[in-house]
Amino acid sequence: MTEHDLIVVGAGPAGAHLASQAAKLGLNVLLLERMSRDRVGDKVCGEGIALHHLKNAGIPYPKGKELGTPINGIDIYPPSMQNYVTVSQLVEGEPCQGWTVDRLYFGQRLLGYAEKSGAEIRDHAHVLEPLLDNGRVIGVKYKDTSSNTMKEARAKVTVDASGMSASLRRRIKHRLIERTIALHDQAVCYREVLELQAPFEPTDRCWIIMDDRYSPGGYVWIFPRGGKIANVGLGTQGGHGYKPKELYQQFLANNPIFKDAKVIHGGGGAAPIRRPLWSYVADGIIFVGDSGCHVNPIHGGGIGSAIEAGHVATPFIKDAIEAGDISAEGLWGFNVEYNRHHYGQKIASLDLMRRLLQEVGNEEFEFVINNRIITTEDLLRANAGEGIQLSASDKAGRFLRGLRRLGLLRRIQKVSRAMAEMLNLYRSFPESMAAFPDWKKEVEQLYHNLGYEP
Ligand SMILES: Cc1cc2nc3c(=O)[nH]c(=O)nc-3n(C[C@H](O)[C@H](O)[C@H](O)COP(=O)(O)OP(=O)(O)OC[C@H]3O[C@@H](n4cnc5c(N)ncnc54)[C@H](O)[C@@H]3O)c2cc1C
Repeated sequence: MTEHDLIVVGAGPAGAHLASQAAKLGLNVLLLERMSRDRVGDKVCGEGIALHHLKNAGIPYPKGKELGTPINGIDIYPPSMQNYVTVSQLVEGEPCQGWTVDRLYFGQRLLGYAEKSGAEIRDHAHVLEPLLDNGRVIGVKYKDTSSNTMKEARAKVTVDASGMSASLRRRIKHRLIERTIALHDQAVCYREVLELQAPFEPTDRCWIIMDDRYSPGGYVWIFPRGGKIANVGLGTQGGHGYKPKELYQQFLANNPIFKDAKVIHGGGGAAPIRRPLWSYVADGIIFVGDSGCHVNPIHGGGIGSAIEAGHVATPFIKDAIEAGDISAEGLWGFNVEYNRHHYGQKIASLDLMRRLLQEVGNEEFEFVINNRIITTEDLLRANAGEGIQLSASDKAGRFLRGLRRLGLLRRIQKVSRAMAEMLNLYRSFPESMAAFPDWKKEVEQLYHNLGYEP
């Protein structure tokens, strides 16, 4: 039995960064990770990270063997691949928009920061369940897989940063906490790191291909990782029984640039692609990263938002411990801060756009891109969670170009308006737990107005 201020379960981007920040603030932190420490970061992933996330969290930019390649834009293609829309948002004074990285080296760097800050790291520690006292989390039970023994650790606050497995969230019985994530709210993926015959061009762009022959309810990605190396994969909507690996192999077979490509690494994985959890806190516990559904529902990127969630949560944990109130009420400030001022509002708004995109078939997507119904500016605004504004100066032109698909135009407009409303609702996330049920009803109503289940 050990006593700590804070136990963090999972040393992925969310947990490692949170542990590092908490230790810097003077908390006594225990970081538990089921893998061996030299494998931390080894996760099936697209390995793309936007610069602003690292900047916001004060993490130095990737370099050396960790750096894949700098990225300056994302090209989004319809199935025919005849046209594309670029999303590019360069910030003055910054070297690029983001990077691809070697995920293992990146993970090792974050873990190193946690250790350097003073967090105690225990690997081979597979957390099995929370220790509870009257429903409040007071620590965890875990299996030390190197000695095959059961152990317990106690702390004032516990963080579930165990990613998609949500090892603790699944076992918490609290009216605020959703224990499971519906299959249709998950992206089920397969990806390979490939060595191509020639470098992928353009070398500073990520490609996204919306083609439901290969990626129904998701997309295909090609992310250059420097030289001839590329990270290639696809995601499908869960719950339909799609077979991502088979679809991926079909995609590769139909695209000559992948001829004779050497597979460096292959594997499958899943990510939550829905609104964030109703609450990221319960009594004695906080959920960050994939465990808190802190993932961008449109592109499934969650490394940056996981780091930001850990960053934002840390001062609230410290304050709650100092105030001697580590109940859900005592930790509630994290919900307010993340939803009102950080990524929560954006995830919630983009979840509506994700639902819309999942309704749109190949033909409609082709139509939208080819007829410039949606432009780069729209996508930038949409990515900020603000909805696709069809009321720009060229509205009339777009309207004429879109006449053949009036129903689709109207649907886009309706979802766009709801996205803006969702943003506003999250910007006024209730300060107190008592006001939460009424706020939740308003959010649910917004989903229902569009015919979606929240
Ligand atoms: C195929 C695929 C491609 C992706 N591509 C991208 C991308 O290009 N860019 C991007 O930003 N995001 C991407 N994501 C999403 C991204 O990987 C996650 O959102 C991000 O890793 C979340 O970080 P996390 O710290 O919450 O969880 P994780 O990175 O999953 O880390 C969780 C950690 O907890 C440990 N753990 C789990 N259970 C236990 C337990 N019971 N006891 C102890 N330890 C435990 C795990 O071993 C792991 O180290 C992708 C996801 C998938 C599946």
